[in-house]
Amino acid sequence: MKPIEIEELDKLPGIRIRGGETFKFRCHPQVECFNKCCRNLNLFLYPYDVLRLKTSLQMTSDDFLDQYVDIILRPDNHFPEVLLRMADNPEKTCPFLTEAGCAVYHHRPDTCRTFPIEQGVLYDDARRKDLPVYFFRPPDFCLGQHELDEWTIPEWIEDQDAETYHRMTIKWSEIKRLFQSNPWGFEGPQGPKAKMAFMATYNLDKFREFLFQSSFLKRYHIKSALRKKLKTDDVALMKFGFEWVNVFVWGMSSKDIRPRT
Ligand code: SF4
Ligand code: SF4
Repeated sequence: MKPIEIEELDKLPGIRIRGGETFKFRCHPQVECFNKCCRNLNLFLYPYDVLRLKTSLQMTSDDFLDQYVDIILRPDNHFPEVLLRMADNPEKTCPFLTEAGCAVYHHRPDTCRTFPIEQGVLYDDARRKDLPVYFFRPPDFCLGQHELDEWTIPEWIEDQDAETYHRMTIKWSEIKRLFQSNPWGFEGPQGPKAKMAFMATYNLDKFREFLFQSSFLKRYHIKSALRKKLKTDDVALMKFGFEWVNVFVWGMSSKDIRPRT
């Protein structure tokens, strides 16, 4: 989900779809281009994507990150991007692509779910929050754009069961936006603080270990009901991880994470 500046809005590729406007699209296994879009992709994975995929594959987050992603730090960015690693074959197919389609369909990442809509986030100064913006942008080879089924964005989100994904991705984009500034100081982006921030957002199994097996709970007061929830509820843990990044990296105060005095 790309952070978009207001002045960029009219220059972006694709057709912007606003509230109430529609686009035409249908994808189905009989279409000639079936699965052509699942190869050679720069497919960004957001924390909730990793959580869903590693759960569906019954892997630890550590093993999933090891086996399936490339972690890239761009020179103008202060938090790494996580990209799904394409298979090592001439077509560079998605590792989850099978002849029958997507092997992780019910847990496919946000970007795949929303395709051929691309979602960006625009910071609304007045409301001081990120707002989603949508662009219809199928690649030329995608024949689904010539079908007649018509959708508004809310209808498409519902059809693709993408609402939770979008909610979590917006939460993530609010954290990610802060990393337009460099918080790492002399440690740099590979230092212990940066590693902690990555673990708290992308490597949730390790983060849980950290919460419960280090001195964390001696140093911070966490209400017992929340503590209990964090032991088993991955989504609660992810939200807590986002909060912890705000506290640990940016020095914000939090009602859920209070230093013990
Ligand atoms: S290219 Fe378009 S129509 Fe073809 S399989 Fe992908 S989404 Fe469906
Ligand atoms: S995760 Fe599934 S839908 Fe997404 S690119 Fe891979 S095979 Fe295609």
